[in-house]
Amino acid sequence: MTLHSDLTHSLAEAEALCARKGVSLTPIRKRVLELLLDADGPVKAYDLLAQLKPGAGAAQPPTVYRALDFLVSTGLAHKVESLNAYTACIHGEEAGGPVLFICEKCGAVQEQHAHAKLKDMPEGFQLTRSVVEHYGLCANCQAA
Ligand SMILES: [Zn+2]
Ligand SMILES: [Zn+2]
Repeated sequence: MTLHSDLTHSLAEAEALCARKGVSLTPIRKRVLELLLDADGPVKAYDLLAQLKPGAGAAQPPTVYRALDFLVSTGLAHKVESLNAYTACIHGEEAGGPVLFICEKCGAVQEQHAHAKLKDMPEGFQLTRSVVEHYGLCANCQAA
């Protein structure tokens, strides 16, 4: 679904974000992000490995997992905990935790970021990461 120009644009933005954070988007990290951006839905690490195999220098599992950890910690990707899969973040540095809407039928994931400040956070708790997952049927599946 992603147009090639969008992909190039997203990768350029990711590189700019990494530069601002003082971290580096190594070729493997970039390749993994590219595969996530190019996918229609969340991708399992296992499938990423399979896709990375054909290229030069087959990627080793720990390399891919480290690349995924990096992408999640920089906010370039989110882990969909319940599916044990990953999805590229389309919101860049936007503040707020991601809110994922997951279709139980086709597996499509739509993402929004919560802008509101978290209520009911225990006093003194310092939030590092949160992902909210909602389940249901996407518009396409309801129409089918
Ligand atoms: Zn996001
Ligand atoms: Zn669906």
